[in-house]
Amino acid sequence: MNQPKTITIVVPFLNEKDNLPVLLERVQGVFAARDENWELLLVDDGSTDGSAEWALEQARQNSHVRVLRLSRNFGHQLAITAGLDRADGDAVVVMDADLQDPPETIGPMIDKWREGYEVVYAIRRSRAGETWLKKFLAAGFYRIFRWLAKVNVPMDAGDFRLVDRCVVDVLKEIRELHRFMRGLTCWVGYRQVSVEYDRAARYAGETKYPVWKSARLAFDAITSFSASPLRWIAVLGVGVCMVAVLWVLYVMVQAVVNPGSMERGWASIIAVMVFLGGVQLVGLGMLGQYVSRIFEEGKRRPLYLVRLDTKHNRN
Ligand code: UDP
Ligand code: MG
Repeated sequence: MNQPKTITIVVPFLNEKDNLPVLLERVQGVFAARDENWELLLVDDGSTDGSAEWALEQARQNSHVRVLRLSRNFGHQLAITAGLDRADGDAVVVMDADLQDPPETIGPMIDKWREGYEVVYAIRRSRAGETWLKKFLAAGFYRIFRWLAKVNVPMDAGDFRLVDRCVVDVLKEIRELHRFMRGLTCWVGYRQVSVEYDRAARYAGETKYPVWKSARLAFDAITSFSASPLRWIAVLGVGVCMVAVLWVLYVMVQAVVNPGSMERGWASIIAVMVFLGGVQLVGLGMLGQYVSRIFEEGKRRPLYLVRLDTKHNRN
């Protein structure tokens, strides 16, 4: 017989007033039939719609509910980080508050963990209620990311996953500001396995990840995992130089064979200048991105600030 373990469910939320009550109910339903101890750690990422107050009220009434209130909105990835840092469980499940990640999948995830896997990620068998553009971009992103970062991030896995205490402890050591949690939980290694689920549509409210924000996360993910774009710029530079050498040779030959023909051509000069200017700006811009990373990481500011943790302030 296994001794009871504690599972912490970390749920970052931003203005999810209509989702949280249903989420709590469904999580309760999952654990009613199981013998684990559990805690629902709701991380308020600067909500302004009263959902934080609702959560605090629950924490007062229900010993399974704990609320971590960040001092402002720090973004989804940092809210997850805050939850992982403070979670006490033997295993930690991270999931969204909008019920796109069905709480009922937690049961099979815990079963896999009990079999000995340290990371159990949930793979979307299908995705309801998302635009084709988002699905298309997501599919493209995962392919590019895997290829560039050399980290085998499973396709179609969001942040919904279970990680063992030993992985949580490793993740706590990683203090980079621009973080892509899905990538990091794969990067750590250990024994990983997946379970499948059907991704539901958002239960209530609006997505907090419009396409531009997703694009920024994708860019953050790539530049924090891979320096390959810098190598590409170098390769591009070499390619352009080779073209230039061939061109110079051509010009020299023409000057001998066909004197006078080289006097025309200011239009082609401008075309080449504009092209080279563009190449240089792209290179500089890419370099700038990495330098700004160094700048931001170098400041070593705290990743997030906690305003309240009901574990320490129960009243
Ligand atoms: N979220 C957050 N902080 C943010 C944006 C989002 O904590 O700055 C939470 C949000 O409340 C939800 C989860 O992150 O629980 C995923 O966000 P959302 O459902 O809007 O993203 P999508 O599923 O549309 O990609
Ligand atoms: Mg969602």
